[in-house]
Amino acid sequence: MRAGFPDFRLGTVLATSFTGTLSERHGDAVERIPTPQRLVDWLTVNGLPVDSCTTAQLDLARELRESIHAAATAAATQEALPASAVQVINDCSAQGRAAAILTPEGERRWRLSSASCVEDALSVIAADAISIIAGERDGKLALCASPTCQAAFFDASQSRTRKWCDMNTCGNRQKKARFNANQRKKPRSAE
Ligand SMILES: [Zn+2]
Repeated sequence: MRAGFPDFRLGTVLATSFTGTLSERHGDAVERIPTPQRLVDWLTVNGLPVDSCTTAQLDLARELRESIHAAATAAATQEALPASAVQVINDCSAQGRAAAILTPEGERRWRLSSASCVEDALSVIAADAISIIAGERDGKLALCASPTCQAAFFDASQSRTRKWCDMNTCGNRQKKARFNANQRKKPRSAE
C-alpha cells in the first residue's frame, strides 16, 4: 500500500468492491481512489491491470462508480432505477473492449485492448454491475445497516440475512457500539 492513502476494502464482488472505494458515504466519506495512480492500483489488485490513467479517466471511473451506487441502491430498495445512472453504466459497458480469457489452469482473466485503456477495465466493472442489478447472479442486493455507510452490497449468503457491507469494518464497529451502549446501561457501582 502507498503511504498516505486510505487502504482498499476488497470484497468478492467486483462492482460493489468498486463502489466501496468511496466509503462512509453517509458519515465522513473516505475517498480511496483520490488520484489516478490509486485507480491504477485498485484496478491492478482487482485483476484489471492498466499502466496509466488520466484525470479524465479517473473522473469517468468515479462517474461510473456513483452510477453503480445509485442503481444498486435503487435495486436494493426496490425502487425504479435512475435513468441517468443506467445510461452511464450502459455507456461504460459499451465503450470498452475487454476479452475474457480462460487460463490453462481453468481461471478467468481479463485481457484489455491496451494497457492504457482504463475504459476497457471500466466496461468489465459496468458489466459486473449489470449482472448483479439484473438479478442474474445468486444473491441479492442489500444496504449496509451501518447508518454512516448504507453501502449497497451483494449478499450471497445462504440465508440472505447479511447486515453489513463488510464484517471487518462496519460489522465490527456496530458490534462495538452495541457493546459500549450495553456497558453504559449497566448499573454502576459506587465510584
Ligand atoms: Zn457498511
